[in-house]
Amino acid sequence: MNEYDSNRITDLLSFANYSKVSEPDDAQCFIFNTCNIREKANQKVYSDVGKIRKKFRDRKVKPIIVLAGCVAQAESNLVFEKSDYVDIVVGPQSYHTLPDLLNNFQSQKKKSINNEFNVIEKFDKLNQIKRNSNKVSNYITIQEGCDKFCKFCVVPYTRGPEYSRSVYEIVEEARRLESLGTKEIILLGQNVSAYKHENNNLSGLIKEISKLNRIERIRFTTSHPNDFNDDIINIFKDEPKLMPQLHLPVQSGSDKILKLMNRNYTKKKYINLIDKLLKAKPDIQFSSDFIVGFPEETNEDFKETLDLVKNVNFTNSYSFIYSERPGTPAVNFEKIPLSVAKDRLKSLQDLLNNIQSKASSRSIDKDNLVLFENKTKDKKQFYGKNIYAQPVFVKNQGINDGDLKFVKITDYNKNTLFGTIKD
Ligand code: SAH
Ligand code: SF4
Repeated sequence: MNEYDSNRITDLLSFANYSKVSEPDDAQCFIFNTCNIREKANQKVYSDVGKIRKKFRDRKVKPIIVLAGCVAQAESNLVFEKSDYVDIVVGPQSYHTLPDLLNNFQSQKKKSINNEFNVIEKFDKLNQIKRNSNKVSNYITIQEGCDKFCKFCVVPYTRGPEYSRSVYEIVEEARRLESLGTKEIILLGQNVSAYKHENNNLSGLIKEISKLNRIERIRFTTSHPNDFNDDIINIFKDEPKLMPQLHLPVQSGSDKILKLMNRNYTKKKYINLIDKLLKAKPDIQFSSDFIVGFPEETNEDFKETLDLVKNVNFTNSYSFIYSERPGTPAVNFEKIPLSVAKDRLKSLQDLLNNIQSKASSRSIDKDNLVLFENKTKDKKQFYGKNIYAQPVFVKNQGINDGDLKFVKITDYNKNTLFGTIKD
């Protein structure tokens, strides 16, 4: 979502007569769009701001430094204490005010913060500013925020309560992107499966977008298992433009840990959901997110997670060591040693990589329908994705961005496939 937000910030500021520079040396202003989901991401931004300070220390005029995104929301005034080099702090629901904040800073040279939850006003403003992306695959935010309050997670505090955009504005944004050459739309939200606007839910929205003739592929991320009703399950069966790949974070396979996390489902319920989805769409593939080393996780609990992974055959998943986030309830839970969490992460990632490699090896000699997105930097290879969102590279010439072609897979590494165009 930060990628979407950063692009919208660029659109917004281009409209206000700012322009993007290609070399950091030429910039008069830096905007850091930050993530606060884990501690590491939070620390990284302050070290990045420090690098800019070093780079510009001999200049007469200091660049304007804006800290945007979820770190800005969570830390507010503390940002200025951690780095007095920052000038403007702006949260994820108020970045539409950046042109004004920048103008004010230029005229008054006074530091400022805007951390209000102005999500309706934000999208009203963004709807007036046209998207300018000519990429083949583009994100559209359809929903923001979260009301679920998992005990480890900062999202409900940084992105605020659940909010869904209207079908009309989302379809208009998709139509605009379609006119610029977009072939794939990825619908985004912290809880896309909770999308609800008036009488429309996620499946209704997907049906509307699929009516756009030149949009060939639709995907969505991220979903929560508890929002998956039959309507959303059936859309995988009924809508051929919806790709057969679903990212469905499970976090843990242990019922005890799931309860402690406030996930409100059990391992059994999750597996039942996977089975239902497989019944509706037999060729669907799943990926997931896992947290290891959550407070009170025992070896037995962790084994339950490994067992779930073996059962579901996840591909292309993400796994993290639990990171304590200030202000979340899990801060008060009893922690487990970091060394134990690190060992568990390694075992889980080994297992996930193994399953991924096996799945990739099964692709050898098979034909994959690939939507090509661009050339690699050295211009020698073309990059696209298969129906499962797996990256595919080919060396053939004469491919154009946006081409949909069958590729015979000849090789693979980790999560990437290589092949040649089928004549
Ligand atoms: N809404 C989605 C996830 C959004 S956050 C869901 O409910 O599943 C993206 C991922 O970051 C989560 O799935 C989780 O695996 C990870 N994450 C969130 N908070 C974390 C924390 N405190 N420590 C480690 N990983 C975390
Ligand atoms: Fe965070 Fe997802 Fe839980 Fe919401 S549902 S609190 S976004 S992990």
